Amino acid sequence: MDMIVSPQSIQNSLLEWFRENGRHWIPWKLKKDGSIPQSGESLSPYGIWIAEVMLQQTQLKVVIPYWEKWMEVFPSLPSLTEADLESVLMLWQGLGYYSRANRIHQSSKKLIEFLGENTDQDPYSWPNRIDQWMFLPGIGRSTAGSIVSSAFDLPAPILDGNVKRILSRLLAIERKSIKDEKKLWEFSSLLISKISPRNFNQALMDLGANICTPQKPSCSSCPLQKFCVAYADYDPNNFPKKEMTRIKPIQEIGIGLVFNKNGELLIDQRLESSSMGGMWEFPGGKKISSESIENTIERELKEELGIVVKVGQKLLSFEHAYTHKKLYFTVHICEWISGEPKPLASQKLLWVSPDKLFEFPFPAANTKIISELYKHLCIENKKL
Ligand code: SF4
Repeated sequence: MDMIVSPQSIQNSLLEWFRENGRHWIPWKLKKDGSIPQSGESLSPYGIWIAEVMLQQTQLKVVIPYWEKWMEVFPSLPSLTEADLESVLMLWQGLGYYSRANRIHQSSKKLIEFLGENTDQDPYSWPNRIDQWMFLPGIGRSTAGSIVSSAFDLPAPILDGNVKRILSRLLAIERKSIKDEKKLWEFSSLLISKISPRNFNQALMDLGANICTPQKPSCSSCPLQKFCVAYADYDPNNFPKKEMTRIKPIQEIGIGLVFNKNGELLIDQRLESSSMGGMWEFPGGKKISSESIENTIERELKEELGIVVKVGQKLLSFEHAYTHKKLYFTVHICEWISGEPKPLASQKLLWVSPDKLFEFPFPAANTKIISELYKHLCIENKKL
């Protein structure tokens, strides 16, 4: 890649800015005693790996309390490997994109195999190459680069959302095509400091979070201003070019809160192979355009659980947005009439007392239903 300035000038400016302005307090980037690691010193790959997966699609300030709780409950790789998926999902509850928790759980077994007789407490027993990390489910090139540079202080480039934005502005690349993406990877590889790769990658992320922000970047405080083509020639806000916002389709979903005569509620566990696999939910399904939502609930519960219910009062309806779609949920209280419930489209069914619901991992959309249900049961003066 042709560059007018040397990568070293950019590295020096960025690292100098980082010394004064970087986020030096991120817990997984510190040693066990809370001190900052020396150049070349390794950190625990376990904590860094968990943090990097949590950070996919999620902001740092949201991740930190989840990560701290995780390290209390699963302080080491063996403790995670021995845990069942349900306990892992319980800790992930509220963080979203639950397939990440599933993949961490699967990966923990592969990593234990990799370590063999070696202890997980010795960083040098762990994989320290990008390709080894990319072999694990859910680890892409940027996450792998971030793990390798953070844990081992090795020059592994990264290209997460923040870094893509900075680099595309520095070069005034529109980032519309695969070719542009390839150029950004080349640029990231060219720029990375061989002397201080951990700090360099962290500096890029900190700059993206605090200076080169998506809207109104603070170019006047930016250590890279003198190298930035978008700043010099164009309006930085135009880089990267924004993709057309796709309108997310809305699908209506009917949900049945099915009670038996003992006041217990029916919940089902999603198939391991599905999205949010292993999470629990209330049964229901997609509305067909010609039917009423009450008919949807009756039909879905017959098809997926083999039971007949009487659909009663509506509890609530709400919209919930996912990455590529929006769902509109309508939830009704139902009475179980006949048929022994069978997990025809799930891996497990349970009748549970409503006050035990918090013991199961539920996706965010279902937690809204639970809080509304609790209010309803209090109003109805039923014992929780
Ligand atoms: S000068 Fe502005 S647009 Fe360029 S890298 Fe710095 S903050 Fe981003």
